[in-house]
Amino acid sequence: MSLKKYIRDIQGFPKEGILFKDITPLLIDPKGRAECLKILVDSLKGKQIDKVIGVESRGFFFGILIAQELNVGFIPVRKPNKLPFDTISASYDLEYGTDTLEIHTDAIQKGDRILIHDDVLATGGTAQAVCELVERLGGEIVQLNFLMEISFLKGREKIKEYEIFTAITY
Ligand code: 5GP
Repeated sequence: MSLKKYIRDIQGFPKEGILFKDITPLLIDPKGRAECLKILVDSLKGKQIDKVIGVESRGFFFGILIAQELNVGFIPVRKPNKLPFDTISASYDLEYGTDTLEIHTDAIQKGDRILIHDDVLATGGTAQAVCELVERLGGEIVQLNFLMEISFLKGREKIKEYEIFTAITY
């Protein structure tokens, strides 16, 4: 798949033993960005989306581009204590410990049709927590889309009840 040429492998980041997929070569290249955006938006043909969620922080980059292309609202889902208004939160397990994500309580109206976007689907814990936030606010998840999926980590299994699209699979 041609988008793979824009992804750089970084061995040992953020800690030893991890092979990190770096998307900055994709971000810096306007042709690559346009190509990637088109693939993500084309995956939504025929679907009605009311709002796009981008997950902090690398989900913000293409999340906002997709929302702009669709001419719909953008909602940031953020790490704790970053959002200024009333929030709800969901926690999920990491290899060691837990992490938490938050969303503004007024970001989603009951029945809103939501696209969730993040850069990477790895173990699926992040995506699962975002789905929980959307459903607690009464939103309907139309699709989750990702720039890439690291398939051996089996993240899909945690969110298998939803439609998933990934532009690149490793
Ligand atoms: P998960 O919760 O599915 O294990 O991890 C997904 C989250 O971790 C995403 O928000 C993503 O930004 C980050 N992530 C995990 N591995 C990588 C990676 O190799 N490259 C990048 N860019 N992000 C990663």
